[in-house]
Amino acid sequence: MSLQLSQAAQTVSPSFTFALNAKANALKAEGKDIINLTIGEPDFDTPPHIKAAAIKAIQDGKTKYTAIDGISSLKEAIIEKFERDNRLSYQKNQILVSCGGKQAIYNYCRAILNPGDEVIIPAPYWVSYPEIVKLTGAIPVIIPTSIEQHYKMTPEQLATAISSKTKLIIINSPSNPSGMIYTTEELKKLAEILLSHPDVLIMLDDMYESIVWNHTPFNNMLMVCPELTDRTIITHGVSKTYAMTGWRIGYAAGPASIIQAMTNMQSQSTANPCSISQHAAEAALRGDQTCVREMVAAFKERHDILIPLLKTIPEISIMPSDGTFYTFPDFSSVIASHGFKNDLDLASFLLEKAEVAIIPGSAFGVKGALRLSFATHQKNLINAADRLCEALR
Ligand code: GLU
Repeated sequence: MSLQLSQAAQTVSPSFTFALNAKANALKAEGKDIINLTIGEPDFDTPPHIKAAAIKAIQDGKTKYTAIDGISSLKEAIIEKFERDNRLSYQKNQILVSCGGKQAIYNYCRAILNPGDEVIIPAPYWVSYPEIVKLTGAIPVIIPTSIEQHYKMTPEQLATAISSKTKLIIINSPSNPSGMIYTTEELKKLAEILLSHPDVLIMLDDMYESIVWNHTPFNNMLMVCPELTDRTIITHGVSKTYAMTGWRIGYAAGPASIIQAMTNMQSQSTANPCSISQHAAEAALRGDQTCVREMVAAFKERHDILIPLLKTIPEISIMPSDGTFYTFPDFSSVIASHGFKNDLDLASFLLEKAEVAIIPGSAFGVKGALRLSFATHQKNLINAADRLCEALR
């Protein structure tokens, strides 16, 4: 039998972040002294009060199916979070709890996109956006940005990218991978363009909302332009804020009709997210937020150590991050002067020669850059910077 995979399976790429993380871990297992700056995942343990809530949930027998869209008390905690942090009001039928932020995004795209629809994605973008869009048959329309413009799309670029086929725009601020945050003024200007295109739906991926140190307090586009409420879905999750990546709890908030369609998609794929994780997520959202402040302080400290060290590498261009635990320096001049073929070639060289694992910018739609995750111990960051300097000397 000759196996013919589906067209979707033939076109989708595996997640670059996970693939390179696996490669780095495999090399480590072989005994290589790899410093792994690939995957974006807090290195802190999940705080004890969150784990305790999960243990209690198991002991209390909360181990059965739940409502597809999540337990009622978690939805209430999510609604309270939006009221507390964003001054946004939602009802329970406007909230969906998913298996990670990624599933919320997938469900949204599945719920609204048809083949041939266009989806505007500013680059650099998180690796999974274009792939998820392509799985629906829709077409990613990439807006390129550069480090000179702080990796921010301009209102002019947005206006030019919108066509009669545009169905959705994805905005991720704070941004994975660049670490930039749109200011309130910038969001207002982008929102003005969207107001003149009433058929374009919006996704705000606020996954990194809590990990910020510039442009605080955090603002998203809905907070500065509530007129966009009836066509905006916010996707979010507890993974990054509470060091809960493995628990797989994300959520989405927005118009009830879209949330219902997303819930239907979920009911025919995974059904409910893990019952135990849902109780843990509720404890995270309702509990003392000191753990979040402590982790953010640590990320900022690491950022402040790493960026000056990277700046000493000749020919790299780097901007400080406003938040997240990523930096996305431009290595184009390094690539050109050292005769590397491209960012992939450079990342392979650095893995081999410096034993530092980094994700090439191409994975995020920017050739010539590299993404470094600084969600790791300071000692690793100092060593990694030393090794990169040495390898590129
Ligand atoms: N979002 C994280 C990253 O960018 C986790 C991996 C993934 O889902 O791509 O590294």
